[in-house]
Amino acid sequence: MTPPLKYRLRCVQGGEEVPEQYTTTCPGGHASLLRTEYAKTRLSVRKLPGIFRFCDWLPIHRILPIEAGPVCFRSQPLSRELGLPHLYLDFNGYWPERKGTITTCSFKELEALPTVIRMQEQRPATLVIASAGNTGRAFLQTSALTGIPVIVVVPERSLARLWTTAPADNACVITVKGDYTDAIRFSREISSLPQFLEEGGAKNVARRDGMGTVMLDGATTIGRMPDYYFQAIGSGTGGIAAWEAAMRLMGDGRFGTRLPELHLSQNLPFVPMVSAWNAGRRTFIPETDMPDAKEAIAQVYSDVLTNREPPYSIVGGVFDAMTASKGRMYAVSNEEAQEAGDLFLECEGIDLDPAAAVCLASLDKACESGAIDRKKTVLLNLTGGGYTRVREDHELIPVRASFTVPAGASIDAIRKELLEKVSSHA
Ligand SMILES: *Cc1c(COP(=O)(O)O)cnc(C)c1O
Repeated sequence: MTPPLKYRLRCVQGGEEVPEQYTTTCPGGHASLLRTEYAKTRLSVRKLPGIFRFCDWLPIHRILPIEAGPVCFRSQPLSRELGLPHLYLDFNGYWPERKGTITTCSFKELEALPTVIRMQEQRPATLVIASAGNTGRAFLQTSALTGIPVIVVVPERSLARLWTTAPADNACVITVKGDYTDAIRFSREISSLPQFLEEGGAKNVARRDGMGTVMLDGATTIGRMPDYYFQAIGSGTGGIAAWEAAMRLMGDGRFGTRLPELHLSQNLPFVPMVSAWNAGRRTFIPETDMPDAKEAIAQVYSDVLTNREPPYSIVGGVFDAMTASKGRMYAVSNEEAQEAGDLFLECEGIDLDPAAAVCLASLDKACESGAIDRKKTVLLNLTGGGYTRVREDHELIPVRASFTVPAGASIDAIRKELLEKVSSHA
């Protein structure tokens, strides 16, 4: 007899079960996210490192001895400063004094780890990831620690952001002379070859369930789900993930019966989701929601929040998550974000990623405007930080590009050399 499946994949729109082969799109053609459905409806928190504590609700079977995971704690100085007695912080970065173990300093590592394991279990191939920085660094670090080969495609000017704390000998970095969109295009060129597999982004359930561990960590630390979940978003994948994790926690029965409200923020002047959501629209009107996109993107403090094609409209995406949770969105200026980052450094002695500073600034705005009830419980997802602190303990190893291609290049430009390089890894 075959053992019962740990999880199934289901199309959110059609409700039909979908075969799991690292599947990221609905084979029936629905424009919908797929979602995992776990056999275990009660969560057991395991005595395992990092995110593997929550392996019941990760779409993987294997556990690795890697410590990266979220940490949830309280900050008296910050609680006092904001007048929030029930404020919980979930820190995703490097901060050993608080057990913050993410050496590449952002919650992208929570996504990278289950993604590479899922790929190996369901469809062994070489994963191809397009990134503007944090995602690429997280996948390179994961490759360095596991030996699993990956290809990371970045715009040329993002190369300086790629480093690891262990040698990433099985990783291949390709720089594109262009912007993030050009990097995405070239990554699709590579994925057209049979040996390679497009990572999938928000459509990849391993990424979302990996990020969802922040909500699980928060709820199991607090003893119930928070009333409000705050996060800065670029794609909004973390917001979707928090909603999905909260639905699972509702099904568990021990963590409350109400969905936490999602309070999501973007960085002015590039705030397409804030604009569309506040207008009550599921679809973007580019001229209204992202006018002069290139110029606006160049001006923000946190460029990880500048995705031009976020999974906002798709069934099961950001709009649905916001609607279900009766959420709110905030537009935060550079100055407000920098002030929030300074305040955090003053209160806690650790530097925040600019995106996490945007998030903290949004909480301040929510308090000031009366958008939240200060007596209720807040979970603040600090999605990155500790860049200064990590340098004290680790040598940061820069990553070199194996190939550089012009924007708009076809795979033929490097096909032969790339295949030779990758086969020497395997
Ligand atoms: C990617 C990233 C975000 C945005 O996350 P999404 O949920 O994917 O929009 C926020 N903060 C940091 C530090 C990030 O790297």
